Amino acid sequence: MTRTVYVNGSYLPETEATVSIFDRGFLMADGVYEVTSVLGGKLIDFAGHAKRLERSLNELDMAAPVTTDDLLAIHRELIARNDITDGLVYLQITRGSAGDRDFAFPDPATTPSTIVLFTQNKPGLAQSPQADKGLKVISIEDIRWGRRDIKTVQLLYPSMGKMMAKKAGADDAWMVEDGFVTEGTSNNAYIVKDGKIITRELSTDILHGITRAAVLRFAAEAQMEVVERNFTIDEAKDADEAFITSASSFVMPVVEIDGAAVGTGTPGSVARRLREIYLDESLKAAI
Ligand code: PMP
Repeated sequence: MTRTVYVNGSYLPETEATVSIFDRGFLMADGVYEVTSVLGGKLIDFAGHAKRLERSLNELDMAAPVTTDDLLAIHRELIARNDITDGLVYLQITRGSAGDRDFAFPDPATTPSTIVLFTQNKPGLAQSPQADKGLKVISIEDIRWGRRDIKTVQLLYPSMGKMMAKKAGADDAWMVEDGFVTEGTSNNAYIVKDGKIITRELSTDILHGITRAAVLRFAAEAQMEVVERNFTIDEAKDADEAFITSASSFVMPVVEIDGAAVGTGTPGSVARRLREIYLDESLKAAI
């Protein structure tokens, strides 16, 4: 089946969808994105993703090409047209194409933003075998730009980090700045020590994960103690458990950091419980 995608108001077969070579997303990574998961044909936390998208656009003085209601309708139409039960909807908005290359932002009145959405079919997304095995991560220096709270398409360094991890026989990398863990290449990072869930506080240093917000809310509701503070790789290696969160992996245990086993070297009970609660609650609220 040829995938149907959405580009600037049209639903098209992926082979017929095009964007200008002058698009600022292509030339300058001048764009933002969101990834929303789909379980049982329904969107998980669409409202959270739509709100963060609005914030990313505002921070970059970029115009929203469609309303949130339109966005929801487009997401749903793509899920239906592509017959997605479990998977992801990727959305990208760029500052568009002014028909040439120029560092100055084009006038939004004459240069409309570009909007693209496509689905990724991932049957059994929530039943990932990785959740039973846990991930191995390596640590790398965080050399990204200073506004990591804006979800831009500047993903070259995270992509390089993923390759460094692969080369080292690991699954992902945790980035470290001034001695403290910022986040994973495409996820937020956590450790558990003496029953406390520890994760870096929100700032411009990390992406404000939609899954993070939900997981911390569910943890508090389940009377689990959450501490938002910095932690080091040494502290993480010495923790009882470690895990990550993201819209595509939900809650995923981390069992090894730089070759050292975390806790027993198997997925911990807190991570397992949070994954279960997150999936249960998110499915109930899916739209
Ligand atoms: N941090 C980074 C750098 C990410 O790329 C992502 C995933 N896009 C996350 C955290 C997790 O965010 P979310 O839970 O909204 O997917």
